[in-house]
Amino acid sequence: MIINCPFCSIDEDKTRIIEEKERIVVILSSPSLMPGHILVIPKRHIEKISELNPDERADLFDTAIEYHKKIIERFSKGCDMRQHYRPFLAQSDVKVDHVHIHLLPRENEDELYQKSMQFERDMWQRPDEIELQKFVELFGK
Ligand SMILES: [Zn+2]
Repeated sequence: MIINCPFCSIDEDKTRIIEEKERIVVILSSPSLMPGHILVIPKRHIEKISELNPDERADLFDTAIEYHKKIIERFSKGCDMRQHYRPFLAQSDVKVDHVHIHLLPRENEDELYQKSMQFERDMWQRPDEIELQKFVELFGK
């Protein structure tokens, strides 16, 4: 447990806990990007997904999938799942150095799309030969 980590010691006055399991806690994100924005968090403080032990991996992804299913059954047509690792950013109220998965309810051209993601479309491009060679060498066998 890390002092000053909001996910190691969840403030129940400020944070709505949806479910608590043996190794996982599910909360409503606060602040949130959109209504129904949920965070699935392993209880143990780790910063990278590679540090999850096998039980935590299974519980984290099983719980994320369980809530992904609930969101699309009960709330919205779509749901994004995100996980970030950005050690170059300081911890803040929107960046916490404790592994968590975001579940974001999505609709066609919703507010998140209108305000941010539509600009991603212009960035999509086919990798060139140099990039292909570089990343095959980096990540290949
Ligand atoms: Zn923590």
